Amino acid sequence: MSAQLSRDDWKGRIGGLSYRNQAFIGGKFVASLTGKTFDCVNPATGQVLTKVAACEQADVDAAVKAARAAFEKGTWANMAPAQRKRIMLKLADLMMKNREELALLETLDMGKPIAFSTTVDVPGSANTVQWFGEAIDKIYDEVAPTPGNVIAMITREAAGVVACVVPWNFPLLMACWKISPALAAGNSVILKPAEQSPLTALRLAELAAEAGIPEGVFNVLPGFGETAGQALGRHMDVDVLAFTGSTEVGKYFLRYSGESNMKQVWLECGGKSPNIVLADAPNLDIAARRTAFGIWFNQGEVCTAGSRLIVEDKIKDEFLAKVMAIGQKMMPGDPLDPKTQMGAMVDETQTKRVMGYIDAGQKEGATLAMGGKQVHIDNAGSFIQPTVFDNVDNTMKIAQEEIFGPVLSVIPVKDAEQALSVANDTIYGLASAIFTSNINKAFKFSKALRAGSVWVNTYDGGDITTPFGGYKQSGNGRDKSLHAFDKFTQMKTTWIQLG
Ligand code: NDP
Repeated sequence: MSAQLSRDDWKGRIGGLSYRNQAFIGGKFVASLTGKTFDCVNPATGQVLTKVAACEQADVDAAVKAARAAFEKGTWANMAPAQRKRIMLKLADLMMKNREELALLETLDMGKPIAFSTTVDVPGSANTVQWFGEAIDKIYDEVAPTPGNVIAMITREAAGVVACVVPWNFPLLMACWKISPALAAGNSVILKPAEQSPLTALRLAELAAEAGIPEGVFNVLPGFGETAGQALGRHMDVDVLAFTGSTEVGKYFLRYSGESNMKQVWLECGGKSPNIVLADAPNLDIAARRTAFGIWFNQGEVCTAGSRLIVEDKIKDEFLAKVMAIGQKMMPGDPLDPKTQMGAMVDETQTKRVMGYIDAGQKEGATLAMGGKQVHIDNAGSFIQPTVFDNVDNTMKIAQEEIFGPVLSVIPVKDAEQALSVANDTIYGLASAIFTSNINKAFKFSKALRAGSVWVNTYDGGDITTPFGGYKQSGNGRDKSLHAFDKFTQMKTTWIQLG
């Protein structure tokens, strides 16, 4: 079991890795048509792991052509759902068989602790593939309640060519949240991983082929957002574009669609999620653990991070002391050490961004209560300490903008009413949490919070059966659950007039 591997064991395995570093188009690994590559860097050490194909417009054209041809041929799209299911279950199985390799690739590529890549990212991704595979032969279409001389069928059909553009914070998991329902529904898919983290997506392509997904049905195009990402967003023959990433880039995709073929665009974007702790919270120790996990898990590089702690004045000091005591035990470490709970920031750019916000917080007058420093491990890499700003006003930059790093902004409030108004005072609406033992407040808040997820007495609750997505500028559409199929299918009405 990977949980028993030591840091030295993991390090010892690096030499045996073989990196897939070319694009995967039409069932084959190929160099980019320009021959360009980019460096794939381990953020914990600064070392170049490999050079990866930098795909651009011509590669996008080739991938879309291959995907369209596969869709038209229909080997996958018209396959009996039960057979598609078997292939997807095989893929999930292969992912679990190669769990340690995938986990190691993920940790080397983006800096997250191996303890989480082995227990969260890879099993969560395989479970997603399995769940959507299992679902696809259990979904029925509808017949409408029409007059007797008519039969009207309401059916869902695969949308066609689906492009998925995903970020670097959970590279494999975010990819699987998109590609699993898209593939299960019979589409051909093109995945563009983030330039910071292409390695698991490329290995996934190989495993998908081994599982039996026909050539052209699943393609992976590593490359940059402004070139490969934009070319997918603007392509006239892409039917659906599903994106996870920043709100800024999400808005670009809406524009690309409007300026090209009006492809459907589904967006899971940023957040500035409120985590409300009221004085009547049932257990402050549990609330503190969930709060610490809610902001510092994955170095704070999480779209649902509980980055605004809205806490009632009368318990603030006691509660914050508990949260910070946990934070002190989460100081960053070597991602390959199984004891490490916070790894490296994904790259220098992101580190600078986060340090810029820490600077802004101090300049705006918030109290830096913990952390705030960039550190190195073994004299290398980009790491940032778990950081807490107390006495934050909700109008400050560190309360309004998505930092995407381990920075908690603590906003004291006088009562529940003020907590609710501060919580909703944001352009985002991805997630929210409320800790209270009062059932009335729990219900009232869960209705009044303007967010796609509301967690009561926990943080980051949910599993593959529950929909996930945002209100307001956190996006549209939903990942996970059967509702995810809506994004990747077209609804057709067939009205049959009987003689
Ligand atoms: P982006 O939103 O820029 O990147 C997400 C994906 O979009 C990547 O695959 C990226 O490609 C691609 N992309 C970037 N620019 C364009 C473009 N002009 N056209 C088409 N595709 C594009 O996130 P960043 O990696 O730059 O991170 C910046 C900030 O975004 C973070 O600090 C954080 O606030 C937020 N973010 C939010 C995420 C979330 O889940 N809510 C996830 C990631 C980031 P490439 O990286 O290869 O250039």
